[in-house]
Amino acid sequence: MLRKLAPEYKLKFMHVCGTHEQAITRFGLRTLIPENIEVIPGPGCPVCVTPGEEIEEAILLAKQGVSVLTFGDMFRIPGADGTLAGEKAQGGDIRIVYSIKDAVEYAHSHPEKDVVFFSVGFETTAPSVAAEVLNGPPENFSLLVSHRLIPPMMELLLGIGDMRIDGWICPGHVATVIGTEPFELFPRVYNMPTVISGFEPIDILMSLIMLMTQVQSKKPRVDNEYSRSVKPKGNPRAKKLLEEAFDIVGGQWRGIGKVPFSAYKLKKEFKEYDAREKYGIKIESKKDILMESCHLVINGKLKPQECPLFSKTCTPQTPKGPTMVSTEGACNIYYKYGALDLEA
Ligand code: SF4
Repeated sequence: MLRKLAPEYKLKFMHVCGTHEQAITRFGLRTLIPENIEVIPGPGCPVCVTPGEEIEEAILLAKQGVSVLTFGDMFRIPGADGTLAGEKAQGGDIRIVYSIKDAVEYAHSHPEKDVVFFSVGFETTAPSVAAEVLNGPPENFSLLVSHRLIPPMMELLLGIGDMRIDGWICPGHVATVIGTEPFELFPRVYNMPTVISGFEPIDILMSLIMLMTQVQSKKPRVDNEYSRSVKPKGNPRAKKLLEEAFDIVGGQWRGIGKVPFSAYKLKKEFKEYDAREKYGIKIESKKDILMESCHLVINGKLKPQECPLFSKTCTPQTPKGPTMVSTEGACNIYYKYGALDLEA
């Protein structure tokens, strides 16, 4: 079917989700796709796009004696001046948790400590953070919020001059929260075929068929391949939590730069839970530590295996950049599962 629908010319479809890249690479889906159809990973790993300055903020908090709790993947992501793992080795109280709930429980059971949860993720995980804030966590708890929004970043990528994207495979879990409506501007304003996709190999193949059908018919629209979970208006309860807890502001993305309206910030009425306000942290250096090619992999201009360091000096054991550190990073996924693609 895919071969039947594929035109003679080249097409490049981008997804923006580490879970999509895992399914595509792990199951060798690129070997099933006609050669002139490229599926490229964009900035879909929240850990990878967390800017160096926000890692520095977490390190600074740990240096001030605060207990910093975060996800395991954040440990080895470099800031301008080191990693959380390095700070822990020097005595910083930095701990891995699996959810904000664990972090709040830790704060409850350690009232003698100042506890900060370094909260990283996209729209998918932000509602649970909002819910905890609205529930009123203990006084010794606050948040270093580093959540980003996907659609504004997708729109910014379309404005990058030497970037070519012929259609979007959009993350189903993000759309489960925000709905299909925020993606409507891509066909309407940019004439861009767009499909909301689930995460099974069959979902991704079906999404490609839907994209090709849109290309063939020259009628771009938003198709919802993941309709078993995604409703046009998303999850109203989750959206209400987000609206009540957060404002939407401009946010820095590692490897991309400042993206307007792409970050959540706690509303003023919750400033006692905002670690930036509570501890008055200020980072002078706004430099991101990126090896030559990392930003090109983050924004989809380079395939991981095209980086000269890939699998030579840069491996998951010796990562030189965020996309090799994180299990959702394209370099890490290619290193683990990319043999089928590399052989093809
Ligand atoms: S292989 Fe390493 S250095 Fe190259 S882009 Fe990936 S993370 Fe960066």
